[in-house]
Amino acid sequence: MVQKLDVIVIGAGVVGAACAWRLASAGLKVMVLDRQAPGSGASQAALGVLGFHARPQMPAAFDHLCRQSRRFYPAIVDELREVTGQAPDYRSCGQLSVALNEGDLAQLEEDYLANVAQGVQVERPTPEECQLLAPGLNRQVCGALFLPDDAWVDNTTLTLTIVRAAEQAGAAFQREEVQEVIKKSGRVSGVRVSGELWPAGWVVIAAGCWSGQMAGGPPLPVQPVRGQALMVAGQPIRRIVMSPRGYLVPKGDRQTMIGATVERVGFAGANTLGGIREIAEAGLEIAPNLRRNEFLGAWTGLRPGTPDNLPFIGPFGEWPNLIAATGHFRNGILLAPITAAMVRSVITGEMPPTDLEPFSPDRIVSRRN
Ligand SMILES: Cc1cc2nc3c(=O)[nH]c(=O)nc-3n(C[C@H](O)[C@H](O)[C@H](O)COP(=O)(O)OP(=O)(O)OC[C@H]3O[C@@H](n4cnc5c(N)ncnc54)[C@H](O)[C@@H]3O)c2cc1C
Repeated sequence: MVQKLDVIVIGAGVVGAACAWRLASAGLKVMVLDRQAPGSGASQAALGVLGFHARPQMPAAFDHLCRQSRRFYPAIVDELREVTGQAPDYRSCGQLSVALNEGDLAQLEEDYLANVAQGVQVERPTPEECQLLAPGLNRQVCGALFLPDDAWVDNTTLTLTIVRAAEQAGAAFQREEVQEVIKKSGRVSGVRVSGELWPAGWVVIAAGCWSGQMAGGPPLPVQPVRGQALMVAGQPIRRIVMSPRGYLVPKGDRQTMIGATVERVGFAGANTLGGIREIAEAGLEIAPNLRRNEFLGAWTGLRPGTPDNLPFIGPFGEWPNLIAATGHFRNGILLAPITAAMVRSVITGEMPPTDLEPFSPDRIVSRRN
């Protein structure tokens, strides 16, 4: 018989690990269950951009969430270094968003206005200034936005360091598949693992794109969205540069990542030639000199997508001790710190760092029941 835990977290990606860290630090007895090694899902496939770009079509509450979470990062990196003696590579490098044709320019103008309306610090460098900001950039760049507050983190090391910090705070990680969420009298009593009930006072669903697949769980409409990315040796451009078709991200001091496709193809997780061509072309369009760089490899990840592109964070009205921490789509690395703080506030009764209502799973789940 497994002893009753305060909290079971399902999933040891960046989101589940961050929740476990914050909950264990609050003195709770926490167990994280993952059928794979920690950090094996989308969290290892990400490119680590901590970017916030206001978009006219996204609600202001989401913009606020992203900005707040990005602000947490420097302190979190310091805290990880202090607690574990290690820290992920973190660079406050800014991001250049470029236009390469008339259509891109119109989009850029809309984005500029949305950023200004949200009070985001954004600059509009001329094409000549772009060449100084990012030598090696395509000379056809005809407009750009520079977002100086954007940053980059090595997401693989980040997730594993958070796991270590969570363990040091007392959380346990076990390699087990959760087969079912067990409910009894309007509450969740625990989860089923290898046919056995593991009881817990709270259950947090942080199972990435698999969050809607769990038997007994609520019908969370989280869908996998495949992202393909590739890596080349060298750094023809030493800055994060985005175009509407793809982006370049320097990794450390010697490599460049190019991302990423956005494909709704179910749980198919393999690279495809078409996908690799799409991102290679997007990268070459940004930095034509890339064609000489050695190809080091490609990978994919399944992002947790939601119908409105907003994450699900918070308790379910019908099962108040079951909490969603999922559906972070393209921003899970960026949003893990604030998600963990929000989940902790629900469980401990602390003041939440931001309003939970816009991200409540009930905005969609209760309507579908
Ligand atoms: C190519 C690509 C580039 C990206 N770039 C960025 C970026 O630059 N910046 C950014 O912020 N985000 C980025 N993302 C998005 C980011 O990777 C995700 O939003 C984030 O990793 C989601 O984390 P997670 O912990 O929710 O899910 P995951 O990391 O997928 O973890 C979920 C875990 O749950 C486990 N699990 C599932 N079901 C069960 C079960 N029944 N029992 C036990 N365990 C279970 C899985 O094994 C997995 O380990 C990118 C994604 C991709 C694919």
